[in-house]
Amino acid sequence: MSKFTRRKFIQTTGIVSAATAATGIIGCATKATTTSGKTETAKAAPRKKIIRHYDKRRVVVIGGGYGGAITAKYIKLEDPSVEVKLIDQNANYVSCPLSNEVLSGDRDIKSLTFGYSKMSKNHGVEFVHNKIVEINAAKRYVKGKDGSTYYFDKLVVSPGVSFKWDAFDGYSEAVANKEMPHAWKAGPQTSLLRKQLLAMKDGGVCYISAPPNPFRCPPGPYERAAQIAMYFKHHKPKSKVIILDTKDRFSKQGLFKQGWAQHYGDMVEWVSGAEGGILEGVDSKNMTLIGEVDEYKGDVINIIPPQMAGHIAHVAGLTDDSGWCPVDQKTFESTIHRDIHVIGDACKAGKMPKSGYAANSQGKVCAKAIVAHLNGTSVEEPSYVNTCYSIVAHDHGFSVAAVYQLQDGVILPVKGAGGLSPMDASKRVRANEVQYALGWYKNITSDMFN
Ligand code: FAD
Repeated sequence: MSKFTRRKFIQTTGIVSAATAATGIIGCATKATTTSGKTETAKAAPRKKIIRHYDKRRVVVIGGGYGGAITAKYIKLEDPSVEVKLIDQNANYVSCPLSNEVLSGDRDIKSLTFGYSKMSKNHGVEFVHNKIVEINAAKRYVKGKDGSTYYFDKLVVSPGVSFKWDAFDGYSEAVANKEMPHAWKAGPQTSLLRKQLLAMKDGGVCYISAPPNPFRCPPGPYERAAQIAMYFKHHKPKSKVIILDTKDRFSKQGLFKQGWAQHYGDMVEWVSGAEGGILEGVDSKNMTLIGEVDEYKGDVINIIPPQMAGHIAHVAGLTDDSGWCPVDQKTFESTIHRDIHVIGDACKAGKMPKSGYAANSQGKVCAKAIVAHLNGTSVEEPSYVNTCYSIVAHDHGFSVAAVYQLQDGVILPVKGAGGLSPMDASKRVRANEVQYALGWYKNITSDMFN
């Protein structure tokens, strides 16, 4: 990130914003790629700019996860004079990325747990431990569970996902907290699933119910199957992992099937929706899943429920009929409530998956847009990035990567940028990808919490 001399100039003189305000018009530079592949910058036709006037510059961020923490920090990096409050219901954050490794026993929850004090001290973000229960878009405040009120000029909402507890007969949050954990928010749920795997007899069956699209971390359930199989292979070799899927296709399917077969033989089985993977109900007392076609009795049952935007987004009226939040994909400002930006899993971000890396990239784009709005400057044309790594064995990883740009208001992948690990990669390349995954985790969490 540059040191923003233009903004500082604007702040101290007010010249550019005043001139822009007078005309209401700004020039818009666009990038074009020529046939020779060179990038040229051309002046597009002037377009109307919405002029916003902010007397105060208070930003409140709800959610200190992959999206929210990075947005809070990058707003401060972009303009230290903006007051930024980061509010989370938990004092510490537990990372979902790499949490499948807790299930194999390769990692503990502690290695996934982070506090906010360093980031707060280093960048002047005020961390507040509170659960937000109300967002008043008209009066521009949010309210905490303890009654505290926090006023904002700009609000960022990054609450992650919530679960559709009514998706199956007999299923509920209480069932997830006891018999059939989801472990799709890392923490006690992950520990509960690990405990159940440890207690399971050799020769037992662990079912994973994989949710319909869209959901948090598209390759996650399939990586989880591999991590559980890794534990079974070494400790309970007569056991099985069976994925009951609502879908007929899944992310990195060929690579997963190849990896499962190579390391775990027939220990991992995948049942597509068409083949009977769709569930209708659960009988938690008898540890049975009731499918459209068959019933499945399991020793351990991990239901990853269908998902929607985090609860507070619904309370605030930020969602549409899809259950997710529509946004202007250039700035992540809600198309329902002005001056409220929604990022991460909760928002509809074109073709970007619901991943931590995507939330990080969106957070940076959003931070720039917010500071531009607050300072009355134009929002730059963004680009976005994502890579999702999956670890199926200690020496076997692969990834899917993409760079994105805005096309007619929608975030779409740039053709030829990124792609999938090849099916015929060498052992060394597969082993390297595990190291890249671990390096990615170290870097992204350091970006968030330092
Ligand atoms: P989160 O990171 O979940 O952050 C939301 C925060 O908001 C939480 O801290 C929560 O406490 C807080 N919050 C919610 N509501 C309130 C409220 N009302 N008041 C106060 N605070 C509130 N992604 C990758 O890129 N790579 C991976 O390898 C990867 N692996 C994964 C593995 C698993 C098993 C899972 C489940 C997910 C994985 N993901 C991965 C996906 C990644 O975890 C999510 O996409 C990412 O966390 C989304 O960021 P977010 O900011 O939207 O939500």
